[in-house]
Amino acid sequence: HPAASNSRRRTLGVFILNGFTSDDFRQLGNTGINVSPIGLGTVKFGRNTDVKYPNTFSIPSDITLENLVNLTHDLGINLIDTAPAYGDAESKLGRILKLQRHAWVLSTKVGEQYNEGRSSYNYSVESVRLSIENSLKNLQTDYLDIALIHSNGEDEKILEQSDVVSELIRLKERGLIRAIGASTKTIQGGLLALKMMDLVMVAYHPDDTSQTSVIDDAQKQNKGVLVKKALVSGHTQSTRENLKFVLQNRAVTSAIIGTINPDHLRQNVETAREK
Ligand code: NAP
Repeated sequence: HPAASNSRRRTLGVFILNGFTSDDFRQLGNTGINVSPIGLGTVKFGRNTDVKYPNTFSIPSDITLENLVNLTHDLGINLIDTAPAYGDAESKLGRILKLQRHAWVLSTKVGEQYNEGRSSYNYSVESVRLSIENSLKNLQTDYLDIALIHSNGEDEKILEQSDVVSELIRLKERGLIRAIGASTKTIQGGLLALKMMDLVMVAYHPDDTSQTSVIDDAQKQNKGVLVKKALVSGHTQSTRENLKFVLQNRAVTSAIIGTINPDHLRQNVETAREK
């Protein structure tokens, strides 16, 4: 909660953290959920194989990640995105967040598992139910704010021919999830996801504006848009320009930026707050 962030915001040596306030927050479509313009992406919390980042990296220790999450909170960020496919990121987050659950908007996914160096996809009712149960257990919570379908690329097939959407709707009705959506790859998939659910997660940056029609459609329908890969998964030098470009689009609710580097996190918030 932004008020909690403000009360925790503090002077660290000579540095004063200048983070988001509730004035900066954006509405996630019509879900009633408000989020900071930047969210924390957590692939690098738990997985360093078969990832698309430019450099290899070691997965940080628990205490390093706890410090990063505390900094995230102090910078006024209230949104964290994770997935069962990000190694043990969920259970690490669960241990860190268990005493501060209500300060966060937690987003996770269903449909992809990553085990022993291999991704597998399953969109059946049983698998979705089990995945959400596991996420609740790992994240040490009794509700998820956001659950997204983790697409394997066949967006339309998943949305139209599997029972994943109807099962997510059921879980939402049971109060286990507050908002549902899909992390999509195709235009048609994104548009379809917006018809059926509350939000989409799409890739968007100055060199890839192919999802603009999906983002525009979300705005028309008052649905949420989370952006992934705003920094081209680390393959750009123009981090400031990219972030500014993404956030200038008022149809974007939040850019989920993956980082395990506190200086990058601070820089990104600073950039986002520049008028
Ligand atoms: P990204 O946010 O575009 O880029 C992350 C990379 O940029 C990291 O390697 C990070 O390295 C670097 N970085 C961050 N801030 C920086 C800065 N100020 N200066 C220089 N480098 C910086 O890409 P992403 O992690 O692939 O995607 C973001 C998030 O979206 C993911 O973490 C995940 O939560 C979500 N996502 C979802 C899907 C899906 O659902 N299919 C797919 C991809 C991503 P450092 O750690 O060194 O900062």
